[in-house]
Amino acid sequence: MTSETLGKVWFVGAGPGDPELVTVKGQKLLAQAGAILFAGSLVDRAATLYAPPGCVIRDSKDMTLEEMTAWLVDQARTHATVVRLQTGDPGLYGALIEMARPLTVEGIEWAVVPGVSSAMASMAAAGESMTLPEVTQTVILTRVEGRTPMPEGEDLASLAAHRTTICIFLSITLMYKVEAALRAAGWPEESPMLVVHKASWPGEEKIIRGTLATIKGLCREAGVASQAMIVASPTLGALHWETLVRSKLYDPTFTHRFRKASA
Ligand code: SAH
Repeated sequence: MTSETLGKVWFVGAGPGDPELVTVKGQKLLAQAGAILFAGSLVDRAATLYAPPGCVIRDSKDMTLEEMTAWLVDQARTHATVVRLQTGDPGLYGALIEMARPLTVEGIEWAVVPGVSSAMASMAAAGESMTLPEVTQTVILTRVEGRTPMPEGEDLASLAAHRTTICIFLSITLMYKVEAALRAAGWPEESPMLVVHKASWPGEEKIIRGTLATIKGLCREAGVASQAMIVASPTLGALHWETLVRSKLYDPTFTHRFRKASA
């Protein structure tokens, strides 16, 4: 290709790990890609499974942002379709904008294909719902402060005061901070908690259920120290509750646009 016919860079969500959780669109793009830059060890299987023969496949785990963008720009000069494959959804903790800005400067077209986030995959693995009528109708996706500082007003204790479903990324080694924040927000010791390690990974997924009081010890016992989602939510365990408020949409006494109340 000449510089007049630059290729397009696609930021594709690889999903949480199971290659079958790549979207159909993502899979099609991988299958026609001239070059794929994938993010570390988490998503290599999708890349190698769906890439066409001869595709240039590169792991980004040892690259700086500058090296990655230079690589993408370079590949877009020779290939019509270049894929940057990212864990879960590219818009969550994925440095998407940092990578997209230099492409825009170079005049390279880019687009995002969303992915199944590990937050969704973790709740799915455990058979749990993020929302329940009259329990919580809100989900917070967050992390605790590690080397990346948290913006003002977003410390977990403030967010946890809302008593919603909270999915905590990138924080399994900082469980003591998670616990301290939930306690500071007044969550009782018996509050149910969930940790899912390698959600959706065939044969490697671990689901750990506990409470605020027990979850850290249970994770230690299970040897879970990376690639894990922490969920604190008042919806956890609802499958076994004695009473549950019905969803209005499916309630026979509730009329809506597509169905008249039957009782
Ligand atoms: N964009 C990704 C998140 C990247 S940040 C997404 O949408 O899921 C990396 C963090 O995501 C990890 O520290 C972990 O908290 C979580 N994570 C990624 N894959 C996971 C998986 N398969 N199971 C559980 N947590 C996972």
